[in-house]
Amino acid sequence: MEYKWIYQSVNGWYGETVNGDQVKLKLVPKGRKTEHLKDSTGNVVGKRCSKCGKMTLATAEYFRADNRAHAGLQQKCKNCHARWDEVNLVGRSIKGGPVRTQRPKAVRIYNDEGLCTFKVCPCCGEGKEREEYAKHSRNPDGLQTYCKKCQAENAKKEKPEAI
Ligand SMILES: [Zn+2]
Ligand SMILES: [Zn+2]
Repeated sequence: MEYKWIYQSVNGWYGETVNGDQVKLKLVPKGRKTEHLKDSTGNVVGKRCSKCGKMTLATAEYFRADNRAHAGLQQKCKNCHARWDEVNLVGRSIKGGPVRTQRPKAVRIYNDEGLCTFKVCPCCGEGKEREEYAKHSRNPDGLQTYCKKCQAENAKKEKPEAI
């Protein structure tokens, strides 16, 4: 069943389906900060963002896809992720604290399927497409930390030439 929107009344949470039906939803706590709203079929209809605490429809409109996560969606809503991406660019604390002098985390751009399609290499500082990185299944983005070019150059440096 597809839902148009969700709302909270004195009796709890409801969802309005695309057919105009009002469906009572069950609040299901998940972890410390996340909550889900499920309908009687166990379908996850709503999801609370673990960061800003806003309850919205559990759809790709509000959450980025992540097939390893519960309900196939990431814990933070798209708005919060956009904020993270922004502060990561300048290495600033998300809580608005002092600017850290350490190198900002690698900037990554994800598509709607949750696939990292673009990443700034922390070694050369250049933004590169996914194809410019070797695959690394144990990293969350599925890519090596450094781009292929830097990896090749670092490998060369490990074997210094005889003078
Ligand atoms: Zn949020
Ligand atoms: Zn590089």
